[in-house]
Amino acid sequence: MKRVDVAGVSVATGHFIDNQRVDSLDTFEDHSPLDWSLKLADVSAGGAQVADQALRAAARAFPEWAALLPKERGAYLHRLADLIDAHVEDLARVECLDMAMLEESLRLRVVARAARNFRAYADLAVDYEPRRWDSNTTHNTVLRMPAGPTVVITPWNAPFMLSTWKCAPALAAGNTVVLKPAEWSPLSCSLLMDFVQEADFPPGVFNLVQGAGEVAGAALVAHPLVRRISFTGSPETGRLIGVAAAQNLVPFTAELGGKGPFVVFADADLDLAAKRAAGMYDDAGQVCLAGTRLIVEDSVRDEFFTRFSAATSQHVLGDSRDPATTISPLIHPEHLARVEGFVERARANGDRVVFGGNRWRADGLWYQPTLIEPRDNDSEVVQREIFGPVLTLQSFHGEREAHDLANSTRYGLSAMVFTADQAKAERFAQAVRAGTIWTNCFLVRDLSAPFGGCGISGIGREGGDYALDFYSDLKTSQVKEGTTHG
Ligand code: NAD
Repeated sequence: MKRVDVAGVSVATGHFIDNQRVDSLDTFEDHSPLDWSLKLADVSAGGAQVADQALRAAARAFPEWAALLPKERGAYLHRLADLIDAHVEDLARVECLDMAMLEESLRLRVVARAARNFRAYADLAVDYEPRRWDSNTTHNTVLRMPAGPTVVITPWNAPFMLSTWKCAPALAAGNTVVLKPAEWSPLSCSLLMDFVQEADFPPGVFNLVQGAGEVAGAALVAHPLVRRISFTGSPETGRLIGVAAAQNLVPFTAELGGKGPFVVFADADLDLAAKRAAGMYDDAGQVCLAGTRLIVEDSVRDEFFTRFSAATSQHVLGDSRDPATTISPLIHPEHLARVEGFVERARANGDRVVFGGNRWRADGLWYQPTLIEPRDNDSEVVQREIFGPVLTLQSFHGEREAHDLANSTRYGLSAMVFTADQAKAERFAQAVRAGTIWTNCFLVRDLSAPFGGCGISGIGREGGDYALDFYSDLKTSQVKEGTTHG
């Protein structure tokens, strides 16, 4: 079993199948965005054979895992959560070096949320009250039946948190899992498998396959033993996952990209709105839920801009391990080039770059916080997800135009509205097409709430019972009135 030292933490570079590490001869290089010359690991690159091995292991383990009581499965999930909590420092150091998310934020918030994901679903599965009702001649009950081996595919931003968010309900519902994290940030999920082993999960219940999406990921989602697919990533890959799922007639959820409207009414607390808007540059804008389209009522547009510019100037670009840093580098040179491409095309299109619009330094992957006033609403920077520290600024006159602008892209993941008027906020929430709408706040999450996107931002809902239903086959049991206990 191959292991490497990453920030003082020993991390296995292979797959994890049947509670064993499996190394592939083929590997891919994993570099740190903090210093691209630093190669962190040669990670095993799985293909069809490894995918098959992992899914066979998951299928073998499924009947016994599915037959456990929810509280028995929950005990494993709680042990896993305890181990995550006990290794916060290690996880934060590895994830920070691997994908450059701010170390302090990982330590204080993100890793704790991952542990909470396991705890919340363990408890929800125990608390499940089946729906029961009587109709004309029968007593009816909705039963949940674990669906089977589940493939979970996750993106490179927040890989640890997002992977646990999807694997926790799948496991709690009685499914076995094969997780494939993104190849640009594969290490924290490998650490998770050490904890799976330490928590003494039965072999084959929770497996990991590393490798390229088009190879390992494609082989997993097309495998005939798969019963559920849960995907988070780009709409482009989401379409391919949908095609593979259709071939096997397997239900899938897809949590995809976003282009959230961030709407500020004149009656809003402008300081709060400006501060939250500047926060959209956090994590270098690599946040699917971010409100990247600032849409401000015309009467306060200039005042908002002044306060927003002041709040943005407080940002500190730097090394994500330094607590003073607020903006990290982008994940990968290819992604930096992609973000640069958007801004170059915006300039060519006649959009106005108000500030930023360049790399921060020639020798790193940082990009300046950037604001663009688009020529019109059809500009590419308004209509497509950039996934970098690039926001647009538009203004509106009247509620109707605010709603229309908010709804004017094909995405529908999240929306933010800032107003002191509750009725106005409620009209906004009714009118705007998005999976999550935040009024005067951002990123507040209740794990029991449904989560997902409209339009090209996704298919299906996870979160709370919605996730447990997705990972189950629901069946209705109908018992004729008068049937007596034997
Ligand atoms: P991506 O679609 O390129 O890759 C996501 C995952 O899919 C990776 O693990 C990749 O290896 C795998 N993959 C790629 N091709 C595949 C194929 N043919 N078959 C199976 N798997 C394949 O996305 P990304 O660049 O890693 O992530 C960024 C995207 O994710 C952005 O669009 C962002 O908005 C989105 N995202 C959405 C949410 C959400 O909750 N809605 C959360 C985080 C990120």
